[in-house]
Amino acid sequence: MASFFETRIEFLKGVGPQKAALLNKELNIYTYSELIQHYPFRYEDRTRFYKINEINAEMPFIQIKGRIKHLETVGAQRKKRLVAYFSDGEDEIELVWFKGINWVAKKLSTGIDYVVFGKASLFGRKLNMAHPEIEPLTTKNDQGGFLQPVYSTTEKLKNRFLDSRAISKLQRALMEIAHSRIRETLPPNLIAQYRLVSKKDALLNIHFPKNQELLQRAKFRLKFEELFFVQLRLLKLKVTRLEKFRGQIFDDTSKLTEFYHKHLPFDLTNAQKRVIKEIYRDMKSGKQMNRLLQGDVGSGKTIVAFICVLIAIANGGQAALMAPTEILANQHFQGLSEFAEKMGLKISLLTGSTKTKKRREIHEALEEGALNILVGTHALLEEKVKFKNLGLAIIDEQHRFGVAQRAKLWKKNEDFVPHVLVMTATPIPRTLAMTLYGDLDISVIDELPAGRKPIETVHRYDANRLKVFDFLRKQIGLGRQVYIVYPLIEESAKMDLKHLEDGYESISRAFSEFHLSIVHGKMKADAKEYEMERFVKGETQIMVATTVIEVGVNVPNASVMIIENAERFGLAQLHQLRGRVGRGADQSYCILMSDYKLSKEARIRIDTMVRTNNGFEIADVDLKLRGPGDITGTQQSGLLDLAIADLAKDGQILQLARDAAITLLNKDPELKLPEHTNIIQQINSMKKHEVNWSRVS
Ligand code: ADP
Ligand code: MG
Repeated sequence: MASFFETRIEFLKGVGPQKAALLNKELNIYTYSELIQHYPFRYEDRTRFYKINEINAEMPFIQIKGRIKHLETVGAQRKKRLVAYFSDGEDEIELVWFKGINWVAKKLSTGIDYVVFGKASLFGRKLNMAHPEIEPLTTKNDQGGFLQPVYSTTEKLKNRFLDSRAISKLQRALMEIAHSRIRETLPPNLIAQYRLVSKKDALLNIHFPKNQELLQRAKFRLKFEELFFVQLRLLKLKVTRLEKFRGQIFDDTSKLTEFYHKHLPFDLTNAQKRVIKEIYRDMKSGKQMNRLLQGDVGSGKTIVAFICVLIAIANGGQAALMAPTEILANQHFQGLSEFAEKMGLKISLLTGSTKTKKRREIHEALEEGALNILVGTHALLEEKVKFKNLGLAIIDEQHRFGVAQRAKLWKKNEDFVPHVLVMTATPIPRTLAMTLYGDLDISVIDELPAGRKPIETVHRYDANRLKVFDFLRKQIGLGRQVYIVYPLIEESAKMDLKHLEDGYESISRAFSEFHLSIVHGKMKADAKEYEMERFVKGETQIMVATTVIEVGVNVPNASVMIIENAERFGLAQLHQLRGRVGRGADQSYCILMSDYKLSKEARIRIDTMVRTNNGFEIADVDLKLRGPGDITGTQQSGLLDLAIADLAKDGQILQLARDAAITLLNKDPELKLPEHTNIIQQINSMKKHEVNWSRVS
């Protein structure tokens, strides 16, 4: 049964087939439901009329009413402007137009009353309003008492007279026929507990708010609901999974103890110990583990991963580690091999470039159970890769794998779903983690190994390059190595490459006494490897490179990172790059080079890097600057496609919504109680549409 809200938009009064087609195409609005959820993105204050003598330049947009006393064009040529001397009967303000002068002048006359809406600013010592909205006073616009919604629209829509005002009219027409049919979507006890307004009132007031308070309550209700359903769905998945999948009980810790006693190379940090405990508790619980392990670069995730591997192996399981790139897979392989050898375990690497013969050997050993650990890329997901008993799947994902790919690894064990540990090196703000990984438990390594000196970060302008070079010379003189990183992006690859090569030239001239390596994405793999190898061995002192070194290089002796054109890098990338230094015992430095001219955002990024080394703090700023979609790439945007809530700003509401969802599922895990029928309906309609979590139906 198609609901009223599924009615196609062309059937709404004032729309018709042509406008409908445009709304479909431009705003993706097909149905009543989708129109209702096209919420205003801001509001203009039409709650009252101001007296001209109350106005000052600090006020936002406001409205006044009165008459034009006199209208004239002043100035000449490019300074020409239209000035209307506007009076409310007591005081006067100048309304000014610099563009469309003739058209505006023709529209205005002196004998009638107007409503003017605009922002006052100081011009010399006089207040004026530039390019205000002005329309004749009518019984309708004379009333005030409302906030004017502003809807996003497009040029094409505007050309067909579907501007924000017109969309507001459509909303009005729709609300007239829809309001009485809007059903409540949340259970009564939640409404009471969080003092929410009804869905009916919320939708009415989001489109036609009479005042700020009603608007804020409407927003809160709709954001809460949207986030609540996202969380409820994720948590429900988790409940279902825990019921459906038993996990192998891994409680034998003999290998772990052996490793602790004989081979542990350093004391674990408290954070590492805590996280290992959390993981072990999952693995011996009889339930399948699904855990996210977050830890900043250098926080020591590798050894944690290896210890988990030991738990799986001691209990007769095998372990797999999947990484998003060959470089990363390689690095993990090397990291784990060191420990595996000491424990006499068999470990192999499987990537796209593994030769057929080797590949076959791996397949066999894996199926026989002779191979304990397999590290690799997507290649691990291939049909032919069969384990004897995959007990633990570790996924190093850095946002690159989706939920679906994670699930594929599960299928590698027919009897038991393996325990799953997802690792990320890019700290994710809590709000994002709760949403992207809301179905996982989360462990955080929030402490760096002792004795690390925080990296000192500074910002230097290109004009001070010589001083920077002097500093480099001194550092290299002390026996350290240096990275110099250039941006290289696809869109401007040619120019960037030239820039990098010029840079390399001038550096080799300036530092003729030292040896240089150069590495960039356009080089052949073996040439790259050769250059890297020389740097790793200390044969070269300076590594000139693009961001290919962002992941996968570990040279503890490298203690200076110079980032050229730092303004062109994103925060996450800057942080990753900086993580390449500070790996040894020496004081490390990161120098961000830029031109004098910086955009506001670039300045915030650079200042943030200079201010803090804390990846989570940086991630928060990044989220505020870029929004969740851009941070995570588009793959999982379905989850982040929120109609009204904003993960960068609504962290508190998200926490409330998640708590509410947890409480509700604890009480009624199957959502069987009669007061939860509307929730079931809501979830079912969400499933049909995948996005639009708080849709009207
Ligand atoms: P990441 O979390 O970035 O993967 P790694 O696991 O590569 O970090 O660890 C970074 C470096 O710190 C490695 O050289 C590792 O041996 C070292 N390390 C890890 N844990 C500790 C610790 N508890 N004490 C001292 N050094 C440690
Ligand atoms: Mg690592």
